[in-house]
Amino acid sequence: MSEKKELLSLGKDELAEELKGLGQPAFRAKQLFVWLHKGKLPAEMMNLPLPLRETLAEQYICNPVEIIEEKVSKIDGTRKFLYQLPDHHLIEGVLMKYHYGYTLCLSTQVGCKMGCLFCASTLNGCIRNLTAGEMLGQILAANRRLQMDEPESSVGNLVLMGSGEPFDNYENVLKFLRLLKEPDGLCIGMRSISLSTCGLVPEMKRFSKEGLPVTLSLSLHAPNDAIRKTIMPVAKRYSMEEVLSACRYYVAETGRRVIFEYALIHGVNASPEHARELASKIRNLQCHVNLIPLNSVPERGLRGVSEKEVHIFMAELQKANISVTRRREMGDDIEGACGQLRRHYLNLAES
Ligand code: SAH
Repeated sequence: MSEKKELLSLGKDELAEELKGLGQPAFRAKQLFVWLHKGKLPAEMMNLPLPLRETLAEQYICNPVEIIEEKVSKIDGTRKFLYQLPDHHLIEGVLMKYHYGYTLCLSTQVGCKMGCLFCASTLNGCIRNLTAGEMLGQILAANRRLQMDEPESSVGNLVLMGSGEPFDNYENVLKFLRLLKEPDGLCIGMRSISLSTCGLVPEMKRFSKEGLPVTLSLSLHAPNDAIRKTIMPVAKRYSMEEVLSACRYYVAETGRRVIFEYALIHGVNASPEHARELASKIRNLQCHVNLIPLNSVPERGLRGVSEKEVHIFMAELQKANISVTRRREMGDDIEGACGQLRRHYLNLAES
């Protein structure tokens, strides 16, 4: 594999440094930054001298993420992308259309090492971290695709809920968020971004202090440690009390509520008693619960619950005055859930 440097991960100062090495004046850094963050290739960077454009094309990676397959849901228009990275690894993304605009679900790692029993992303472990540029590149690739059909549209909201654990790739995720905020960058507001973690306590606390008004979601999925440990290995590292205390810290530091994600799994965490136990644990926390219908993972023998069970669970939480919604299922016909499309591909490659 070539060891070309990938430019989209670099801030303006780092680009200036790189360009200095090529004998270029500092002002070119801003020009290059603007082009890169529009998703343009060197040949299209019209205000750069031709020899520089040629050098950039030959010696650097400007556009690290390419869509190699797309599925469009016939039900709701949700698009699922399979992306290829410069070293040929595959990741995936989902583009959802809501009344307020387009939301892209981003991956932060190739695979994941957290080992949650219900999650397809983790089945082959974590292959590597994504760079900040590869996270930005997913947005640029989705925008390019979207704009073929709708030239005026672009991704307006992000959820870091694709494959990977964002806090297991903390530095690159932070760099990505800071690059997004740059005035000449994509300028997606931090308030339009949700970051989901399985509950890495030290990073949750560190993140609370970063001054980034990103919405924090915690994958809770259980009302107590005993159940959580059976489905999420991370629960053996951090107790629920530690995780909830990190959530309280986040609320105190940022003044923002936490979103708890809770996938209802048949026979595991979905009874009315579980709902009441959950309510008692989070009652004093500024939070919202997002109930997720489980996308069954046949390899693990886990399945979701009936509509009726969802409503009973929801009603128990409401009785305890807990704000709760049920996540809309999107792209059900196109393997919309975490890691499923990539999994499908890896299975095909193995067979
Ligand atoms: N690692 C992060 C983000 C990626 S997963 C995290 O754990 O939060 C995004 C969300 O999808 C998490 O809440 C995760 O638990 C959930 N999820 C994973 N597999 C699922 C499945 N089969 N059905 C429903 N939700 C699932």
